[in-house]
Amino acid sequence: MMTDIRKYIRAVNVFLIMLVLGAFTIHIFLSNYISLLSSVINILVIGIILLILFSTIITYFIFYEKEVSKYLMKINYLIIRNIFPVISKVSGFVNISKDEIRKIFIKINNAYIYSNKYNFNSEDLIILIPHCIQNHNCKLKVTNDIDNCKNCGICKISDLQQLKEKYNTKIFVATGGTLARKIIIDNKPKAVIAVACERDLTSGVRDIRKIPVLGVFNSRPNGPCIDTNIDINEVEKAINFFTCK
Ligand code: SF4
Repeated sequence: MMTDIRKYIRAVNVFLIMLVLGAFTIHIFLSNYISLLSSVINILVIGIILLILFSTIITYFIFYEKEVSKYLMKINYLIIRNIFPVISKVSGFVNISKDEIRKIFIKINNAYIYSNKYNFNSEDLIILIPHCIQNHNCKLKVTNDIDNCKNCGICKISDLQQLKEKYNTKIFVATGGTLARKIIIDNKPKAVIAVACERDLTSGVRDIRKIPVLGVFNSRPNGPCIDTNIDINEVEKAINFFTCK
């Protein structure tokens, strides 16, 4: 899946320009009256600009898979988590698809998770998948239990079922964010491998704060929410990573 870092950087630049213009305007109106407040605003804006510039440089390095220390990754990850909603909003003003920004967010999230070490049992992982992976003509009720799949091989549910058997990992079909949250609360996994489109994956990863989540995008060769596809190797790689294999 091609991601364009230049679009992310463009959205960040637009945000920085808006920030400077906003601060400048406030400065003009307030400086004559409350000089202390305008100094505080200046310091705040300069601090935010420096943090965002730092984050953008680290993001650029991560994007091109250059070596970045895990501490810098962590700091960058925390910055991106916080600025993501604003950058995502700004991208809409300059005609950049929000999905481009979401792809960068998930890439940074995954790079950060992969920079850590875990040694979980595969039974303590859960894999969340969207319903649209199931072929739309299939009438089997895999949303309740993917073991209801008869393994005809038309869609990737059969590959997922095989992964489930091979690793004894729990796999759930999450038909929405609320259900995904409930599945996590009920099962208390040590880590999650979430498969979804850019929008759902980003909101899911931002929602779950206490345990590591690796995001895997599904591809949509037939358009949104119908007969989507996934790279099973990517899911298996995530299982092996969390179980230290
Ligand atoms: S692989 Fe399973 S879920 Fe997919 S179409 Fe075949 S029987 Fe249905």
